[in-house]
Amino acid sequence: MAWEFSTDPEFQEQLDWVAEFCREEVEPLELVFPYAVRMRRRDPKMAALVDPLQGRIKERGLWAVFLDRELGGPGFGQLKLALLNEILGRYGSAPALFGCQAPDTGNMEILAAYGTDEQKERWLIPLMNQEIWSAYSMTEPQGGSDPDLFVTTAVRDGEEWVINGEKWFTSAGRHADIILVMCTNGIFVVPRGTPGVEILDQPRLHDHIVYTDVRVPLDHLLGPEDGAKVLAQRRLGGGRIHHAMRAIAQCRRAFDMMCERALSRQSHGKLIADHQMVQEAVADSYAEINMLRLLVLWTAWTIDNSSTAESRTQIAACKFTAAKVLREVAYRAIHVFGSLGVTDLTPLQALWAGAPAMSVMDGVDEVHKVTVARNVLKGYQPHDGHWPTDYLPAMRQRARAKFADAFTADPELRQYADAMERRAGRSH
Ligand SMILES: Cc1cc2nc3c(=O)[nH]c(=O)nc-3n(C[C@H](O)[C@H](O)[C@H](O)COP(=O)(O)OP(=O)(O)OC[C@H]3O[C@@H](n4cnc5c(N)ncnc54)[C@H](O)[C@@H]3O)c2cc1C
Repeated sequence: MAWEFSTDPEFQEQLDWVAEFCREEVEPLELVFPYAVRMRRRDPKMAALVDPLQGRIKERGLWAVFLDRELGGPGFGQLKLALLNEILGRYGSAPALFGCQAPDTGNMEILAAYGTDEQKERWLIPLMNQEIWSAYSMTEPQGGSDPDLFVTTAVRDGEEWVINGEKWFTSAGRHADIILVMCTNGIFVVPRGTPGVEILDQPRLHDHIVYTDVRVPLDHLLGPEDGAKVLAQRRLGGGRIHHAMRAIAQCRRAFDMMCERALSRQSHGKLIADHQMVQEAVADSYAEINMLRLLVLWTAWTIDNSSTAESRTQIAACKFTAAKVLREVAYRAIHVFGSLGVTDLTPLQALWAGAPAMSVMDGVDEVHKVTVARNVLKGYQPHDGHWPTDYLPAMRQRARAKFADAFTADPELRQYADAMERRAGRSH
């Protein structure tokens, strides 16, 4: 019997440690010093708070947990990573504290997979050690969903590449030391301070960047020339499933809050939790979170047993399902909270606002739904003639053929079958 839903005790110990560590250390730090990890490099006071915590994480072997062993990580694989992310995703700063924060994770993944030894030494190792930060510049102002609309290009000029173009929504671009810029003819590593890199004032968190005659040496091309789309797929495939893993934690947080509140308030003579429509909100949320969780864990298991590329349909399904479940559950929780729910005095508004972002980032939901439908439909054939394969009268005729000998041997059996068929005919 191969189905197995339990976690091995040794890894469960790690998960329990992470849950307690996050509760006792990560949450207080992020409530009081929300940007401590990013400020650590410039501010010794923040470093004094963050470094000992990261030291404990490293001692437990939980640093850069997303990377395979051959790429420099602990090699947990996706299933264990999913179980870890179910905890980390509850705390905004936990991924950065554990060295597995987006967008650096995706960038590290492609540096690890496609970088030369020299590129790894120069950028991957410092990124893993959080000595530098990175960003990923792919989306352009004229369109994000369709990579064929991208026009940013690098032209070779002697010993340099010259990049021209404009990028939109580069997360954390203004704080990054290096930016991985997707051009029509490859992905290039561009140090942020390179002349010609202009970061516009707005938006603040996800940057609008103009690249004008930006010159980088030839060895700043990552992977093969013209390999941009392949590298981008590799990068985004991992990113999508990691977001879905963390979304489970966010859904659970909203759900826990909803349940606690429903048991704590009264209306019309009874607990809010005793009203049936509130019970419906609890029951639907419980079922949806567990459906999402099983989908994500099954997908993570499939990746571990095949590859990200072979799990593409499942990853796409996780991507839009995570956004949908977060949207529904966070909304219900806000509603059960009544007026308090619509303030920013609880995490609920931020959780809910995360849902539309999740629907758009890493490819809009529609594109992923098309991927799922297209791939699933490849497993089907059209039926012959007018009627579907499951057309009951035709199925019954085919089934009767199986009993032909029995009917010849026993005419009463045939009469019985005829009566059954007439009865079925009356209900059509
Ligand atoms: C929080 C966040 C972080 C991000 N970080 C980064 C980053 O670090 N680097 C980066 O390069 N980009 C980043 N992005 C940008 C992201 O990749 C794009 O927003 C995304 O690819 C969609 O592109 P767009 O915004 O141009 O929307 P559009 O492509 O204009 O799509 C808008 C809408 O059109 C419809 N639509 C589009 N295509 C289809 C289709 N094929 N079928 C049906 N309907 C369709 C959908 O309703 C879609 O929502 C981030 C986005 C978000 C929200």
